[in-house]
Amino acid sequence: MTTVYVFGAGASRPEGAPLISDFIEKAYEKLGKDSSEKIVSIWKFLCDYFGKDPKNSKEAGENYPTIDEIVTIVDYAISNNINLSSYHTLSKLMEVKKGLVNLISSTITQSIVSNDIHKKFIRELKKKKGPIYLVSLNYDTLLDEAITGCYKNPKGRVINYGFNSVITSNPRFNLFKIHGSLNWSLCPFCQNIRVYNKPIAHRLYEEYDICGTCSNSYSEPVMITPTLLKSYNIQRLNNVWLAASEALAQAHRIVFIGYSLALSDYPIVNLIKNAISQKNILREIVIVGVRSDREQLGKRYCKIFSKNITIAFDDSGFTGQTHWDTQLPRDIIR
Ligand SMILES: [Zn+2]
Repeated sequence: MTTVYVFGAGASRPEGAPLISDFIEKAYEKLGKDSSEKIVSIWKFLCDYFGKDPKNSKEAGENYPTIDEIVTIVDYAISNNINLSSYHTLSKLMEVKKGLVNLISSTITQSIVSNDIHKKFIRELKKKKGPIYLVSLNYDTLLDEAITGCYKNPKGRVINYGFNSVITSNPRFNLFKIHGSLNWSLCPFCQNIRVYNKPIAHRLYEEYDICGTCSNSYSEPVMITPTLLKSYNIQRLNNVWLAASEALAQAHRIVFIGYSLALSDYPIVNLIKNAISQKNILREIVIVGVRSDREQLGKRYCKIFSKNITIAFDDSGFTGQTHWDTQLPRDIIR
């Protein structure tokens, strides 16, 4: 039985990462007093555009829309060539977008306090036979660092990120980060994506190393919102989606960790549904979450996936466990 693991924001939560719902509050807590130009410009944008000037992180969280809504408003305006107001012109919005990427990257990097759970998970997986397939919707580098950390003297690369659209058995770890990653940088001239061993997205949009392929010294972060994949059109990232699709097509079991399968994630629903229809061999879905989400998540997954797929719920949250291949959770939703 081939298992594919899909990581959503809830998987990174126990290590300190913010969720969409409390992102702005966390960002204000960490960066509300930050003096860097990019961050200051974001707080000014939010204050001007939404007409509110919060005094603390709690007020910021309560008064502003969620981070994905803010990004979507700005992205929508940019991709449709419209000004948000007489002051927020298109060229200003391009700067706001860069500031938002910086804010997201810095907030995640500063919020993460541990990596014990992901490390335990990767150590357990490494003991199993054959290639390992991980699809992550998270920008953080918890999985990347857990994988590289479990090889003392790696010969060659230890992660296949899918930039060439293929799945591999050597390296054994296939990690497909379909929304991008904080440790990637894109050369916009030759479309090469470079991988670093630590988060660097908040340092980009300026000079940062030299591209090994075309020698240009300007690079951009690779972080996208799902709804905007097409408008970005980064070939290497499209390849990552193809590789993820190939892995999902081979899955007999998909384990969703901390992922709500939200309505706005229709490109991902589409990716998964399309992939599993190719061979039609998916038999089991395991949802890993917390008890309070059980009913809502159960209903949602049952709506999306066909009747002959067993759906089980592991309500212990993500603790680094990998035993689902020998033991399904007792709570069978359908
Ligand atoms: Zn280049």
